[in-house]
Amino acid sequence: MLEHLDLVGIGAGPSNLSVAALSAPIGRLRCKFLDRQPTQRWYPGLMLSAAVLQVSHLKDLVTLVDPTSRYTFLNFLARTGRLHRFASLHTPLIARREYESYLRWVSDQLDEVQFGCAVEEVTFDGQAFRVESTRGAYAAQHLSIGVGPRPYVPEVATGKLGEDVFHSSDFGYHTDSLAGRDVVVVGGGQSGAEVVEHLLQLSGRDAVGSLTWASRRIGFQPLDESPFTNEWFHPDYVRYFHGLSQSRRSQLLDAQQLASDGISKGLLESIYRRLYHNDFVDSDRIRTTLLPGREVTGLCRGPGGRGWRMSLTHIDTGEIDSVGADIVVLATGYHFPLPEFLHPLGGRIARTNCGLPQLAADYSVSWAGPAGNKMFFLNAGKLSHGIADPNLSLASWRAATVLNTITETPLYPDLRSSTCSWDVADRAATHPPVDSGVDLLTESSRP
Ligand SMILES: Cc1cc2nc3c(=O)[nH]c(=O)nc-3n(C[C@H](O)[C@H](O)[C@H](O)COP(=O)(O)OP(=O)(O)OC[C@H]3O[C@@H](n4cnc5c(N)ncnc54)[C@H](O)[C@@H]3O)c2cc1C
Repeated sequence: MLEHLDLVGIGAGPSNLSVAALSAPIGRLRCKFLDRQPTQRWYPGLMLSAAVLQVSHLKDLVTLVDPTSRYTFLNFLARTGRLHRFASLHTPLIARREYESYLRWVSDQLDEVQFGCAVEEVTFDGQAFRVESTRGAYAAQHLSIGVGPRPYVPEVATGKLGEDVFHSSDFGYHTDSLAGRDVVVVGGGQSGAEVVEHLLQLSGRDAVGSLTWASRRIGFQPLDESPFTNEWFHPDYVRYFHGLSQSRRSQLLDAQQLASDGISKGLLESIYRRLYHNDFVDSDRIRTTLLPGREVTGLCRGPGGRGWRMSLTHIDTGEIDSVGADIVVLATGYHFPLPEFLHPLGGRIARTNCGLPQLAADYSVSWAGPAGNKMFFLNAGKLSHGIADPNLSLASWRAATVLNTITETPLYPDLRSSTCSWDVADRAATHPPVDSGVDLLTESSRP
């Protein structure tokens, strides 16, 4: 006899952990969240000691929709005896390692979250989804799919991955084999910059032989974290964005790239300082070469089958350059293919013209099945919901949206969130200033 649940969450990273944390106080929902990792880990292959979270701790799993939840980051700090010391840190930046501890602290309190449990297949029996996992099967009325993105490997490097060519998501597993080697880092986003920063701080016997940093982008550009740009990460903007045509959404995503994929300003400054010191101050120097505006167009074995020869095409002039490498680190981003376990249902899932699931405003996918059985996709909706979707900023709001749909109740009320009026209808509506004494989140609206 299968256990019958209201919701099965596949994956227990931040996206589904937020659903788990916000569903716990509802009480009446029977949920399970299954994750294939043996324990809660957060990108262990890129957990570099200096890496910090790129968002405020207010954008934790729950605070922006329920600051009274017991699963807030602040409560984590209090319960683990560090709240006063955190307050004296005078930095808004949390170490990624500490964020991972927070995730583990939350999942440890939630019996519904089960690790070491990989989902292998999902089918539909006419009434419920049947979820086959390595620890048994479940029947679920709804699914919440939060399996995260997959590392993107450019075509020139496919079939060449191994000990000396690897994606940045595996960088942490290769740090022992870098000393004295010629390393090329490909990719001018945050991950590439974190790898470069790590390599530049290696010194003495640990130092690399040389470091080349190549990027297709026109420069090594900062993340735009200014306040009005941050409003693209507000629920009001996500709703507005979802209502636009697909072609307009694609144009906007291109224009907004640096709001989500730029490099943290502090990290850029640190890299620049290290390069200056390397060139003019330090006694031990390594050869460094920075190559913006270059696209990797070829990768083949070096002379005698040793090392690698990489072809780089200049995006402004079309000239082709070539560099040698012992180690190639591909900080080339992530993408979202349809997970294999969904292949039995693949033909019933509506897709966009780039193959992604077509998502409604509440993150449920359009599929050829009963309307009472929903499949929610978390962190797969950049094209439909905008740049906030692959980011932590709205994980709690997205989770609340999913739970509001499942329970058919506005458990987590959605208040106006932006200074800007994004659409004409919004501008036409009057938004009187809120009296500071009015409690907009009344106790009765809490789960
Ligand atoms: C290195 C890195 C740093 C980032 N830092 C930030 C940041 O500072 N700020 C920010 O806003 N965003 C950041 N992001 C972007 C985004 O917030 C993260 O990708 C976030 O972890 C997404 O959460 P998720 O739960 O959707 O996916 P993930 O965190 O990838 O979690 C997915 C989970 O699903 C599980 N899973 C996969 N397949 C199965 C299966 N078949 N069965 C069971 N379980 C499965 C995995 O084990 C994993 O635990 C970062 C991304 C990366 C790669």
